[in-house]
Amino acid sequence: MFVIGLTGGIGSGKSTAGEIFAELGVDVIDTDQISRLLTKSGGSAIPAICDLFGDAYITENGALDREKMRQLIFSDGADRQKLEQLLHPLILAEVSSHIQRSLSQYVIVVVPLLFETGDYDHLVQRILVIDCDEQLQVTRTMARSQLSAADVRAVMATQVERQFRLKKADDIVRNNRDIGHLRAQIVRLHHFYLTLAT
Ligand code: ADP
Repeated sequence: MFVIGLTGGIGSGKSTAGEIFAELGVDVIDTDQISRLLTKSGGSAIPAICDLFGDAYITENGALDREKMRQLIFSDGADRQKLEQLLHPLILAEVSSHIQRSLSQYVIVVVPLLFETGDYDHLVQRILVIDCDEQLQVTRTMARSQLSAADVRAVMATQVERQFRLKKADDIVRNNRDIGHLRAQIVRLHHFYLTLAT
């Protein structure tokens, strides 16, 4: 299976780009979505999270208390690593199983922390980076969440630098303009990827 890793900083437009690939009939595997499933009520990561962090981080419904965990891992890098070491192998196993079952001509795996984890090196044959100006990352993320500009900048500070990402990319989509412009670039790439996949 021809697998493309799609990545980019927070608010760069990864999910939006993923949705466009999905509309074109491509299987899109979203690692954030897998992470949410693993940590929802009854999710398979919940017992281990409880063991590692205590049940103070689990809501009454038995799901991960995201807001509390977010606060913890931004104040303590070691805790962030602990959570990542727990979740990443589980996410990777899910991704591999999706890829094996896929009947798509190629597969897109959306991995926000593709470079940060290194877990995906052996799994993806090509890297697509969605990129936009940092100020746009901040304003777009603020518009869709409760995060302040400082919160968004704090998340960006935990991610690899924009220039590093761009250097490592096989393909780059610049998402500084409207959605139509994003879509046109994705459609072009889709045709290119179809030729690479066959
Ligand atoms: P990511 O998944 O990289 O965090 P999203 O795809 O969720 O980013 O995009 C962040 C926000 O910006 C979303 O609300 C999305 O609808 C919006 N957005 C993405 N691309 C554009 C664009 N080209 N023009 C306007 N808004 C956009």
